[in-house]
Amino acid sequence: MGYKVCPSCGTRNPEDDIVCKECMADLTGVEPVDEEVEEGANREPEEEIEERTVVISDTLTLLGDGFSIVVKSGDVVGRQGIGAESLRGFKTVSRRHARFYKKGDKWLVEDVGSTNGTFVNDKPVPQGSGQEIKNGDVIKLSSQVALKVKV
Ligand SMILES: [Zn+2]
Repeated sequence: MGYKVCPSCGTRNPEDDIVCKECMADLTGVEPVDEEVEEGANREPEEEIEERTVVISDTLTLLGDGFSIVVKSGDVVGRQGIGAESLRGFKTVSRRHARFYKKGDKWLVEDVGSTNGTFVNDKPVPQGSGQEIKNGDVIKLSSQVALKVKV
């Protein structure tokens, strides 16, 4: 919908009106102004929100001190597993240390018989059972290696 600006008082009138609602001036010769520009500007933010909600990640990122390890469901992290390049120097990390896997939309970590254990927020992960992990949790593979979870 457009509108007509009254030539004598400046009031915005509906585009189909022939006289100004304020001063009764004749509007038959006034060209209607298109409002589309304003409507378009209002529509933009909605599109941005839609794009943001579509992103679903199927990997988990473990942020270490100066390195990061990206794991897929089922990956075993360790000195000879996923992240070996970053973990090789840490003798306290086992060759196969912890397995990360997805169950529904939740991520879990499980210790796979490591020497020094796996800890989530300083609590030991019981062997043979998965411990749920969330964004921001800190996983320790030893006292030397702390990894921050980024889902
Ligand atoms: Zn008027």
